[in-house]
Amino acid sequence: MAYFRALPSSQSCAFSSSTSTSPKVIIIGSGPTALSTAHHLVFPSSSTSTSTSTVSPYTPSDILMIERDPTYGTNSACLSAGGVRTQFSYPQNVAMSNYGLSFLSTIREECMASTTDNPDPMQFVNAGYLFLAGTQNGSDCLQKNHATQQDVGVLGSILLKGGLFSSTNNNNAIETSTDLSSSFPYLNSTDIQLGQYSRGAGDGYFDPYGYMQYLKQKLTSAGVQFLKGEVVGGKLDAQQSISEIHVNCGNDNNKSVFYSFEKVVLCAGSSSGKVLDSFTPCSSSFHSPVQQIPVIGRRRVIHSFTCSDPTLKTIIESDKSNTVPHPLTVDPSGLWYRSEGRDHKTKGCGDKFLTGMSPTESDDDDDYCTMNLMDDRDRIDKCLEINQADTDKFNEVIWPILYNRVEAFGQLKHTGSW
Ligand SMILES: Cc1cc2nc3c(=O)[nH]c(=O)nc-3n(C[C@H](O)[C@H](O)[C@H](O)COP(=O)(O)OP(=O)(O)OC[C@H]3O[C@@H](n4cnc5c(N)ncnc54)[C@H](O)[C@@H]3O)c2cc1C
Repeated sequence: MAYFRALPSSQSCAFSSSTSTSPKVIIIGSGPTALSTAHHLVFPSSSTSTSTSTVSPYTPSDILMIERDPTYGTNSACLSAGGVRTQFSYPQNVAMSNYGLSFLSTIREECMASTTDNPDPMQFVNAGYLFLAGTQNGSDCLQKNHATQQDVGVLGSILLKGGLFSSTNNNNAIETSTDLSSSFPYLNSTDIQLGQYSRGAGDGYFDPYGYMQYLKQKLTSAGVQFLKGEVVGGKLDAQQSISEIHVNCGNDNNKSVFYSFEKVVLCAGSSSGKVLDSFTPCSSSFHSPVQQIPVIGRRRVIHSFTCSDPTLKTIIESDKSNTVPHPLTVDPSGLWYRSEGRDHKTKGCGDKFLTGMSPTESDDDDDYCTMNLMDDRDRIDKCLEINQADTDKFNEVIWPILYNRVEAFGQLKHTGSW
């Protein structure tokens, strides 16, 4: 997310337009970053569970959100795994994610209270994350991260011993841990040193589309303006502040120009770099290159599959009708998988799963720190075939790793990729 100050309207350049309005804050995009920004501006005190009372300098109608695709067909959030975790290595990341979980929980409660026909439109599932380490280095890293998370106040995740667990791991944190094989009997843990499982810390996954629809409807009801259109350019002044925004609302005769605003918040996700590239200097006497931001799109692929083997269900002893969804399990190879959705009969996991693979260095072979972004963005998009799922990879790479970790996945059925 980039943030720019804009100059008063008197500095704006001429641009032919059919519409002109003057919102005080323009937010480009309406994905989770944009919606959360608008929510924090409109409802500052109810954006977290803390009781701090803050007054916004803006009324809802001061805010305009511009979205090129309100169906969210190419929005990263809707294509994502919807996972939320506190298992990070830097304290800052842990603290940010903890804040995010608290925000999500507040919004989910509101959302559930506001609907009668759907008990949980956001479909949050507290499945946890399970990171697996197969080497001593990986194991040391998990223990260090675990300690960092506890220092930040994130409690509830546990360390679990795998088949390779060695006595050199024997510090205080490990003494209290139990075995991976007893907690996850379907999982092959013979080649694992240590696992970290974070269900108790509140980690899990949710439906990003349900979350975004609720926030959008709440903001619209409050008076925030939404515009369907694509930001296709604009003007920058000599201080690189945005002074005009040009929006294509569908065809050449239907363009809008916005100026006279106070703030612009660029939340166009992986397109943010391209959006800023499309801005030009306001004055012909000002020839400095336009500021660039190193944000580019990268290909990430998710595969779905089903597997109904009964050995995959873990029963919570205290409630025989309840099964535990598979956590988002991160294999030492970089592969991850998790349960998908919720089985309403068992209230736990069903037979649907999602999986994917962390990218290797060759998957991301561009060096965006050194390249000339302006020249190379189109080439990168083309080279990486950014919007195509590599379905062959499922059979060749992903399935064998899944089978090694969970024998029952030998019987899985691949149902899709995106
Ligand atoms: C396959 C995959 C899996 C992922 N899994 C996870 C996960 O499990 N957990 C997690 O935390 N993150 C995950 N992510 C990352 C997550 O999706 C992103 O971090 C998140 O969506 C970023 O939100 P955003 O609002 O910044 O961008 P987006 O969600 O991409 O939203 C940007 C919006 O801006 C709009 N836009 C773009 N250009 C313009 C323009 N010129 N004019 C007007 N509108 C424009 C787009 O249409 C879009 O709606 C995953 C991503 C992918 C691709």
